[in-house]
Amino acid sequence: MSRSLVWLKRDLRLQDHAPLAAAGDDEAAALWLIEPAWLQSPEFHPRHFAFARACVDELRCQLAARGMPLLVRVGPALEVLEDLRQRHGFDRLLSHEETGPGWTYERDVAVAAWCRAQGVVWQEWPQHGVVRRLKSRSGWAGRWAVRMNEPLVATLSGWRGWAGVEPGALPAWTALRSLAGAAWATHEHAIAPAEAARPSDARPTTPGEQSGLALLDDFLSGRGRAYRRSLSSPLTAESGCSRISAHLAFGALSLRVVHQGTEAAIAAAKAQGDRALASGLRGFAGRLRWHCHFMQKLESEPAIEFRHFARACDGLRPGEDVPGAPAWGATQAARLQAWCTGQTGFPMVDACMRSLNATGWLNFRMRAMLVSFASYHLWLHWRPTGLHLARQFTDFEAGIHWSQMQMQSGTTGINTLRIYSPTKQALDQDPNGDFIRRWVPELAEVPLPWLHRPWTMDATLQQTTGCVIDRDYPAPIVDEKAAAQAAKDAMFGLRRRRDSQQEADRIQDRHGSRKSGLPQTGLGRRGAPPPRQKSPADTQLDLFGMSNLSASGDEPT
Ligand SMILES: Cc1cc2nc3c(=O)[nH]c(=O)nc-3n(C[C@H](O)[C@H](O)[C@H](O)COP(=O)(O)OP(=O)(O)OC[C@H]3O[C@@H](n4cnc5c(N)ncnc54)[C@H](O)[C@@H]3O)c2cc1C
Repeated sequence: MSRSLVWLKRDLRLQDHAPLAAAGDDEAAALWLIEPAWLQSPEFHPRHFAFARACVDELRCQLAARGMPLLVRVGPALEVLEDLRQRHGFDRLLSHEETGPGWTYERDVAVAAWCRAQGVVWQEWPQHGVVRRLKSRSGWAGRWAVRMNEPLVATLSGWRGWAGVEPGALPAWTALRSLAGAAWATHEHAIAPAEAARPSDARPTTPGEQSGLALLDDFLSGRGRAYRRSLSSPLTAESGCSRISAHLAFGALSLRVVHQGTEAAIAAAKAQGDRALASGLRGFAGRLRWHCHFMQKLESEPAIEFRHFARACDGLRPGEDVPGAPAWGATQAARLQAWCTGQTGFPMVDACMRSLNATGWLNFRMRAMLVSFASYHLWLHWRPTGLHLARQFTDFEAGIHWSQMQMQSGTTGINTLRIYSPTKQALDQDPNGDFIRRWVPELAEVPLPWLHRPWTMDATLQQTTGCVIDRDYPAPIVDEKAAAQAAKDAMFGLRRRRDSQQEADRIQDRHGSRKSGLPQTGLGRRGAPPPRQKSPADTQLDLFGMSNLSASGDEPT
């Protein structure tokens, strides 16, 4: 009989879990590995650990009741796997495929080599609609639908667990803090004040498979009715969106369960004549495909985590390690700090950032506005701003995140440029100023006519409202109109260049969604990874988050 180890990665659930089911005929144990490389990665935030830990806590009880021990180990993957192999002699390693940040890819390369050397068979299953070694984007949506409509993997009622194995304690964050290293301390300083300022009615997402299923059920059975009209404003999106993104990111919910549940709910709503619910859920169902569409871009071209889709954009903004790029200087550092901490002087930008820093979630439109403001008005490169957001989003999902960061920064070469005006967004999405007053208490007493542009108050009004600009609340960090115009000139100048236009065809061919049926080419993530570049301009704080990457050319099988 084989001995299996189920390596739990971003699939912390019982339902629809192929590796757990595949271990049913073997003596089996599951493993949650807390890797120092994760804790030290520039995208990491303790809120990610807290979410994952709570999912594991719940899953551990459920698996234990079915005879499967869930082991928890802290250490580098190879060391832990070798230790378990020596003590327990497993010969099968079972896991889901992962499309994660560069360090997970490099780790998988090493684990694949270790498995080959030790005679351990490593079997992986897809868990999303992402296709490995994709040759062509044509027909991708059809393949997604086939995969999502496959029957759910049955949950076993019992396993034959490894005997005599020490499960290991589930550590608290405080016990791991020292492993996370110096990089974390720098970022912690930036967010601590916002955490302290969280209003008591702000709602962070509750982790775990059961809470994910409850959220989904609540959304599909009624909350989804308001989905389309709630999406854009941060006031309505908090309850009108599904809020399942972190559950999907950590795999506490299976995407197939969500997809099939949604299609069933749409059919039921139609049968009952509930057109509003059916329409809301149809809009939501489309987003589930976007989830994989964006992840596929990272799978097919891992370099987009670090460098532009459109190489014509190289050196456009300061701080990049390419010839001729402007240097990262004190202006950029000050702008980045103001943006990260919600101190830009633009009320909606600051309210959104403070809300995100405190709760770990923000709706799509406001995420896009934050990035547009940073990338266009502040002219900051998307990599350091993207790292800040990655840390803050509890739902950080590398494939969606880096694709969206580039899309909202105008560097994909194929998408329409969208430069959001932070003042117009404030007026459109928070016309009464409720969201702004909630998250920027300095502006609480500012009357509505001035709330969205507090710098236009005269000196007397500033005194009477207790909000003196530059003393109680910052003056705008840039001139909105002039900054937007400068960005537009630079971006449209770039787009007009011949090399940009030629490159756009290549990018559309490789990554674009298919409406035209053009012939496609693609390398696949398991093709040779590109060399990773380190930015000398940022070695001290490693703002571009590249210091812990090696230039590995190996491939996992
Ligand atoms: C700059 C930027 C960075 C982002 N980074 C992430 C990220 O790291 N992780 C992440 O899950 N989402 C990310 N998004 C997409 C989107 O904002 C979130 O998925 C959404 O706000 C999550 O809330 P929800 O679950 O209530 O979404 P709902 O609107 O209820 O959507 C349901 C699910 O569909 C998927 N989805 C929704 N919108 C998108 C989208 N635009 N692109 C891809 N998938 C989508 C998500 O899995 C989401 O959970 C990012 C968007 C931007 C603009």
